[in-house]
Amino acid sequence: MQNEIVINASAGETRVAIFERGNFVELHLERESERSVAGNVVKGRVTRVLPGMQAAFVDIGLEKAAFLYAGDYRQESGPSDIDIDEEEETPRPQRRRGRNDGGRSVPKIESLLREGEEIVVQVAKEPIGTKGARITSHVSIPGRHLVLTPWSKRVGVSRRIEGERERRRLRELVSRLRPPDLGFIIRTAGDAAREQDLAADVKYLTEVWDEIQIKQETARAPQVLYTEPALPLRVIRDFVTGDTSRVVVDSAVVYDEMKAFVHRFVAEPQPRIERYQGDVPIFDSFGIEAQIDANLGRKVWLRSGGYLIIDQSEALTAIDINTGRYVGKHDLEETVLRTNLEAVKEVVQQLRFRTIGGLIIIDFIDMDSSENREKVYRALQDAIRHDKARTNILKISELGLVEMTRKRTRESLVQRLCEPCTYCEGKGYVLSRESVAHKILREIRKDLSRFCGRRVAVRVSRSVAELLLGRLKNSLEALEQELGFAIEVRAQADLHQEQFEVFALESGPPVPLDLPWLRQTAEETEVERTGNGHVSATPSTPPGTDLSPDNGAVDDGAKSTILPHPEREEGF
Ligand SMILES: [Zn+2]
Repeated sequence: MQNEIVINASAGETRVAIFERGNFVELHLERESERSVAGNVVKGRVTRVLPGMQAAFVDIGLEKAAFLYAGDYRQESGPSDIDIDEEEETPRPQRRRGRNDGGRSVPKIESLLREGEEIVVQVAKEPIGTKGARITSHVSIPGRHLVLTPWSKRVGVSRRIEGERERRRLRELVSRLRPPDLGFIIRTAGDAAREQDLAADVKYLTEVWDEIQIKQETARAPQVLYTEPALPLRVIRDFVTGDTSRVVVDSAVVYDEMKAFVHRFVAEPQPRIERYQGDVPIFDSFGIEAQIDANLGRKVWLRSGGYLIIDQSEALTAIDINTGRYVGKHDLEETVLRTNLEAVKEVVQQLRFRTIGGLIIIDFIDMDSSENREKVYRALQDAIRHDKARTNILKISELGLVEMTRKRTRESLVQRLCEPCTYCEGKGYVLSRESVAHKILREIRKDLSRFCGRRVAVRVSRSVAELLLGRLKNSLEALEQELGFAIEVRAQADLHQEQFEVFALESGPPVPLDLPWLRQTAEETEVERTGNGHVSATPSTPPGTDLSPDNGAVDDGAKSTILPHPEREEGF
């Protein structure tokens, strides 16, 4: 499919946007601090052999020893069954678990390895939490059309390439091009590849393997021998095809690297690589930044005015489809059908863009007609056919629910780019300002006896202050009556809505205040009063933030000021 690739490479982070027919369909990113160790080829040292588990621990230079099953360690030939999982970021032959091999064909671990031995392995699975990395000796190095499998002497073809003739053509070509001692698998991307494409791949992969061999001879374990190329080069490997109109990159360094890589390893006609040098950041210039933001939110608008709500939880993703405005009874079913059909396309695109995997429940708008339900269901099946990830859709229910699964290939974009909101701790909600205001009033009332006649101040967020001094003024005043004092409300701009602080303003002996003025409305523009109580010094507050007798005064006869609010409240 015709595509265009835009790369933003800056210190520590590289982002790649892929456009298909002008649509922004995928975002990939790589951060230096989070570089994966999966795919690394490492010279490691066996630290423990575990006959009971038919496995071994191998030190590969990571914090935790890596785990190697007997079945993943073969010195002779590899598994005869060759398949490639094309959805993986780095395709590799499927491995059988050592323990599930039945133990018949797999030699005992203690006969294969001894402690202290140095072996060359590849990281198959990244360490997760307390689990160490999973490793294998079945090294596989992906190229553009081929995967090098040096442990096997065979030439395999991805099962997803159909057509016996094409399979035979590819197999014969690669058998002729390869060094006789190296095995290769033709990736799905190799379908219809020309001889020069395959030759370029064989050359590249053979060079990589030679480098590994040279390093391996001199290296002392643990030592990394090969790492997956950085994202821009993987982009050339995995996304650039004959249909790629151009690759645009903003970094001069990355531009040079890509040029050099293409020059060495990509057969003519080579993809067009351009350097972007505009003043506007490249992702802004292409309108990508705004689209990323729009595609992270819960709500996604449809052109018709309807919208999707996408909720991702650990167990599943729920997508709820809604008609935007009230559409009226007339033609309702027709409108609903149209919205549902429009939603189908957007859902499929969102699944891909957000790289959502696992169980997905789509809640279409109810349709009375079973015929229409069927239409929506078929549209979904059609749309998902182009999805490279493996999917499985179950029937649509009478309530318009569709259950489907999508293979998880990498972390979802939201997981990648976001973390739970510290405000609401991932709940997705915060207490409303009303709830917070009433909670504060309850707190003060609860502590009335503790305040024993002292003046009380509350520090609250702006929105809550606005409410306490505005709509909830009567409640606040009623409490002031009970307390016998004014309650000073201090707005603090940087305070979170749910946060507040209640404190007594003075520690001295309580002195009763004459409070008739409090009952007057605060609408008076500016009223000066003379308080007759002793008021001790209090923490300074910016002028205009309180609704209490002037607390900056220290003497008897201090001036009290009632300020109009909320207009005069700072920042309101
Ligand atoms: Zn939140």
